[in-house]
Amino acid sequence: DTRRLGAAVHADFPILARRFGPDPLVYLDNAATSQKPRPVLDAILGYYTEANSNVGRGYYQLSMAATDVYEGARAAVRRALNAAHPEEIVFTAGTTASVNLVVDTFGRAKVHEGDQVVVTGMEHNSNLLPWRRLCETTGADLVVVPAESTGRVNPARFAKALGPRVRIAAVAHVSNVVGTVNPVRRMIADAHRAGIPVLVDGAQAVPHRRVDVRDLDADFYCFSAHKVYGPMGTGVLYGKRELLSRLEPYQVGGGTVKGMTFEEPVAYVPAPARLEAGTPNVAGAVGLAAALSYVDGLGWDEVRRHDATLVRTAAEMLGSLPRVRIIGDPAAEPSGIVSFAVDGIHPYDVGGHLDRHGVAVRSGVHCANVFVDSFGVLGTVRLSFAVYNTEAEIDLVRRAVATVEPGFWTTEHPEERFLEAG
Ligand code: PMP
Repeated sequence: DTRRLGAAVHADFPILARRFGPDPLVYLDNAATSQKPRPVLDAILGYYTEANSNVGRGYYQLSMAATDVYEGARAAVRRALNAAHPEEIVFTAGTTASVNLVVDTFGRAKVHEGDQVVVTGMEHNSNLLPWRRLCETTGADLVVVPAESTGRVNPARFAKALGPRVRIAAVAHVSNVVGTVNPVRRMIADAHRAGIPVLVDGAQAVPHRRVDVRDLDADFYCFSAHKVYGPMGTGVLYGKRELLSRLEPYQVGGGTVKGMTFEEPVAYVPAPARLEAGTPNVAGAVGLAAALSYVDGLGWDEVRRHDATLVRTAAEMLGSLPRVRIIGDPAAEPSGIVSFAVDGIHPYDVGGHLDRHGVAVRSGVHCANVFVDSFGVLGTVRLSFAVYNTEAEIDLVRRAVATVEPGFWTTEHPEERFLEAG
């Protein structure tokens, strides 16, 4: 029964009342960013209205209240991920910032010339370029384990790459292109047997499933608040306490030391504060905590069921259209995304056609063009779902796609695929 989600929660999301033309907005680009429910907007406004002041710095009631609110948000994230300790939660600006933090601290300390870093062939640029640059600057080798045609990484193939020169592996939990779920628990266990720590990019997992970092035994786990109904500009780096405590500071500045003289070496405070230099985005953390609580209130089982219904409905409805090819195998373990290509029609033309029907989708290479290449398509049209989407919206997409014709891109720029930087 998915009746408690879909249209039933529309009223929670003020932006869904916007219209671009006669029809209500059908927002199906949730993998890029999700919309924000009223409790999240209220929490952010409430923070600035009632508690705003700098945190961890002032010896007065308001500042102590703000510090409590900020640390309360950290505790909420710890609970949501089932992390063992609040110190294992570092607030960052997003997934990209979390990955770069690990690369610039752990990566620089551990990865040297002749070493290897393992990634998969389905990584988003944000979990690929930082590692690639690290390898280029240190003289290490980037080992890429390609995904299968299902859009999933074969764990046996991954295990084969875990040789003695590997210092770390970085893998996506869920593909942002085709919505397939990697067997990360098994991949992590195999890596650990070889003594290799694993960073998981959970940007597309956290909005769709309850993530338990201890059950996964992930060493580092990254996600963005804005994809899970929280605000932009906030993200999380989870790291095991013994790993975080040994990291050198990342950026240094206010909040990272207790005292200092010019004669002695600088003594930095422990994590997480040593990794959060400068004034943090307190309202962002507060908004994230409200978002996690909102999803929790809807019920994760309900969210998973709703998600599975939408993914299976979309794969079925679109897959039944003659010119449509569903990319990968999204219905096997649904995780909020269905990507497809329409024979002979440029994905931007499909996206533009859907836009004229009031449907917002992402079309193109989704910051992962090599992975998209592996499916032999120029790009995909990606439907990505949230708790407010409905089967009726998918039917609208089906009807629109059935009438799509070659347009500007198909005729004028049939090979162009980088409308935006990926
Ligand atoms: N990894 C994946 C799998 C993503 O989908 C995204 C966002 N599209 C990112 C990383 C980067 O997240 P952010 O832009 O919020 O830093």
